[in-house]
Amino acid sequence: MKDIEKLAEDALKGDKRSIARLLTVVENGGPEARDAIAILYPETGKAHIIGITGSPGVGKSTLIEKLIREIRKRDKTVGVVAVDPTSPFSGGAFLGDRVRMQSLSTDEGVFIRSMATRGSLGGVARATNDAVKVLDASGMDFIIVETVGAGQSEVEIMRITETVVVMLSPGAGDDIQALKAGMMEIGDVFVVNKADLENAQRVVMDVKNTLSMKEPEEGWKTPIIKTVATTGAGVDELLETIIRHREHLNSSGASEQRKRRVEDEVVSAIREKAADYVIDSLRGSNQLAETIERVMNLEKDPYTAVDELLSKLRIRPKEGMMEDTGLERGLTQVYTGDGKGKTSAAFGLALRAVGRGLRVFVIQFIKGGVDYGELHVVGDLPRFDLIAYGRGQFIDKESPDEEDIAQARRALEHAREILRGGEHDVVILDEVNVAITFGLVQAEDVLTLIREKPGNVELVLTGRGAPDEIIEAADLVTEMREIKHPFNAGVKARKGIEY
Ligand code: GDP
Repeated sequence: MKDIEKLAEDALKGDKRSIARLLTVVENGGPEARDAIAILYPETGKAHIIGITGSPGVGKSTLIEKLIREIRKRDKTVGVVAVDPTSPFSGGAFLGDRVRMQSLSTDEGVFIRSMATRGSLGGVARATNDAVKVLDASGMDFIIVETVGAGQSEVEIMRITETVVVMLSPGAGDDIQALKAGMMEIGDVFVVNKADLENAQRVVMDVKNTLSMKEPEEGWKTPIIKTVATTGAGVDELLETIIRHREHLNSSGASEQRKRRVEDEVVSAIREKAADYVIDSLRGSNQLAETIERVMNLEKDPYTAVDELLSKLRIRPKEGMMEDTGLERGLTQVYTGDGKGKTSAAFGLALRAVGRGLRVFVIQFIKGGVDYGELHVVGDLPRFDLIAYGRGQFIDKESPDEEDIAQARRALEHAREILRGGEHDVVILDEVNVAITFGLVQAEDVLTLIREKPGNVELVLTGRGAPDEIIEAADLVTEMREIKHPFNAGVKARKGIEY
């Protein structure tokens, strides 16, 4: 068993030393952190995650200490993640505070951790989120995340919590300013601390006024609770209110809120990885070289040049994916013959390609109006585009009319655009051979497409009776012979497949 698996297993059992080590792992990020989160994730979702935010000096750590004691009185466990460089949890405060906090950390049911705020702010949000996951999986009943203020990253961090407590106190002049700056939006519960001081009631009134401008949330009237953190007054009411908020979430929009949280997690994960992914896929490419060249020549500034580069960029499949599908050589293939299965074979190739992250475009030359089940299904796949030209009745016709010709020409024109666009790895021209045979499009035009196609694009031409010159130009020709057929002619039981 890998070390990280053992560590995760011990943390799941609630072993404090393993939890501490695991927190360091996730804080540092990297592949080990990802492995750990992958193991722990299924065990998360049980803890009540509380965010507590407010300006420095408002009394957060004093209050959190009292909250911890209140939670412990009820025989519940609690983890604290402090994202605050000045917090006594991270050793930033007076000795007396630190000693009090340390007395808590010898309690088996309490786990306190401060997140180093080095690195990018986004990185802190990610590390905090992962730390919360570790504590959640290891069985904590409550998790408190402490942050300072309401900057972008704090708001981001608060979004991973369920109940956000915004703290204010008299004397801190910028508090109401902070309310306007966004805390009002995120607060589920407001605390006016230092209620023993003068002016506390004024702060309560200010909060009330500000909240009256906020759109009310159904079923939850945002409470304002007065506390004196130094004595613990009001802390039991605060905990009650916090618990009541979770009950409210459970009874109403809990799944909505969870969905938003998971969406945030997924989007952040993309944000974190996207740059590497894009840069890797650009390395060694002409696009990167050209962009560098243009900036060197002072044709463009770096920002404009990169904007232009990114707007043209398509996320290339990871290296190796082309090889996986056998498509890396970019062949011109022809599926022909009288037997059934030409289109199905081409679609099979397309599905393999899509499954490996490649992009496919299918142009059907004379099947427009024909409706079969597979089309609806593949139409919903990502990276799979399909367009059908032509009219259904064409197949039964003696000879094509002008409209048939016009449709096929449009299909050909579209094929040219797609190949020039360079955005697709596999391009399938379904029934193009038949379109040539009927004179709807010229073989010469199709040959031009074959000659001009980008080297790594797999071009597949299907249809019975492929003309000699097409066969000649192809790298690979597959002829479908008549297949054995268990049904009598005319039976349409397998219509979806064989129409
Ligand atoms: P934080 O920066 O938000 O964590 O604030 P602290 O918890 O460190 O508190 C800052 C200062 O305010 C400390 O000196 C506390 O003792 C004091 N303090 C905290 N809560 C209260 C309170 O309710 N009343 C009074 N008078 N002082 C308080």
